[in-house]
Amino acid sequence: MLKELSRKKNIHVMLVYTGGCNGCDIEVVNCVLSPFYDAEQYNVFLTWNPREADVLVVTGCVTKAVSASLKKIYDEIPEPKAVVAAGACALMGGVYNNIGADLGTSTFIDGPVENIIPVDIKVPGCPPRPEDVITGIVKALPKILNG
Ligand code: SF4
Repeated sequence: MLKELSRKKNIHVMLVYTGGCNGCDIEVVNCVLSPFYDAEQYNVFLTWNPREADVLVVTGCVTKAVSASLKKIYDEIPEPKAVVAAGACALMGGVYNNIGADLGTSTFIDGPVENIIPVDIKVPGCPPRPEDVITGIVKALPKILNG
């Protein structure tokens, strides 16, 4: 009962990094924890436990080394849940996918994220602005609140 009550009153965001430069991760953590953005004041918290998560925020290009783990984490998050793919790497492989170059497609990535798990909200940027990460999380909330 305590768990159900807590989940109704709080939004728990799980951040998963799947390969990149960490620029996106810094901005995601920034939007929740920094005094400037401080999403915690609205009861948005970071969690590292998929069983407590409501929103999964995925950054990075999804290397072959982590794609199975990403799927496992997604499966462990209870319904209702939403996925936000944040940043150019998460959306299209970014610089790690050799987009627009003459070297061919990278062979060490399975991404973008939507190749591995369903994505509800896509947030662009390299890295995305904290405001846009927060907007993406807010856009994901109806799916969670309405089941
Ligand atoms: S989208 Fe840009 S900032 Fe984010 S992980 Fe990729 S290269 Fe880094």
